[in-house]
Amino acid sequence: MSKFWSPLVNDLVPYVPGEQPKMANLVKLNTNENPFGPSPKVVDAIRAELNDNLRLYPDPEGEALKDAIARYHGLNQDQVFLGNGSDEVLAHIFYGLFQHGQPVLFPDITYSFYPVYCGLYGIEGKTIPLTESFEINPDDYAQPNGGVIFPNPNAPTGRFLELSKVEAIVAANPDRVVVIDEAYVDFGGESAITLVDKYPNLLVSQTLSKARSLAGLRVGFAVGHPDLIEALNRVKNSFNSYPLDRLALAGAVAAFEDDSWFKATCEGVIGERDWVTSKLEALGFEVLPSKANFVFTRHPDHSGESLARGLRDQGVIVRHFNKARIDDFLRITTGTADQNKRLIEVLTGLV
Ligand code: PMP
Repeated sequence: MSKFWSPLVNDLVPYVPGEQPKMANLVKLNTNENPFGPSPKVVDAIRAELNDNLRLYPDPEGEALKDAIARYHGLNQDQVFLGNGSDEVLAHIFYGLFQHGQPVLFPDITYSFYPVYCGLYGIEGKTIPLTESFEINPDDYAQPNGGVIFPNPNAPTGRFLELSKVEAIVAANPDRVVVIDEAYVDFGGESAITLVDKYPNLLVSQTLSKARSLAGLRVGFAVGHPDLIEALNRVKNSFNSYPLDRLALAGAVAAFEDDSWFKATCEGVIGERDWVTSKLEALGFEVLPSKANFVFTRHPDHSGESLARGLRDQGVIVRHFNKARIDDFLRITTGTADQNKRLIEVLTGLV
């Protein structure tokens, strides 16, 4: 703290991202990145964009990308909002779409950026405990609120809430915006994007960081009714009028044009995730059913902390949360076949 700090900054409790270790040769399974890499067509498109035009500002509307997303999902361009990763999209949602003065509802446990945004904007957040089996119960979200948000699949549990239950939450809150954060939906879940034309209060956010393997490019988007998108654009243009740089726009458009790469890598991750699940279960781990690119797992005889430490000592990094109710668990990102074999080999020696 310094005398130059605003009191607003003194009170902030920022999000701490997962570690990005500098050492090579680690098996890095801690931040839910995609092990397969982006489409080569994305890399080509970014290379082609490395030219003299970099002296020019990018398109402030990001029109080519909005168009690619709209066409991909059968929507209109005015139903699409772009941001620097879905984290930025979510920040604008908290500012522009949630009613201040009533609590925003989100699960406990869930993505730990939500309470951070509440703190940043001085919004009250109310956490709703997950059920015994770490599921979201739709009935819990039919209570007065300033908005609702949850990831589907949820993080870090990986559990997917079926679409009919998502729809029940949206329908129960006709005067509030319900946000479905679909960062991990492409690994076996079902998107609520098909419902946006039916519900003007539904906003779905997605990212290119996971299934499209572009975490380093920072591209996220939200889709919903044009009125919701307009509010988000007003917030964005009050911060920064350029949603994405030229390289990110070019790469992201190319990502939507290579559907076969996208589908093949998703299938690859799903196959590997299911292999890891079966091996963990054979070692006595309990594994929550996952529709994400990670598994959430605990062992009856070993603490999460000791397993995370034991893995790290042998060069395998996974995520352990020091948080009540889940401190027994490890969140393990699905890696390549070789990385997953190494993970299981090390765990076999530890349990
Ligand atoms: N939502 C959830 C649930 C996440 O786990 C993440 C990744 N940390 C994000 C959103 C943000 O992803 P990005 O900013 O890379 O799009």
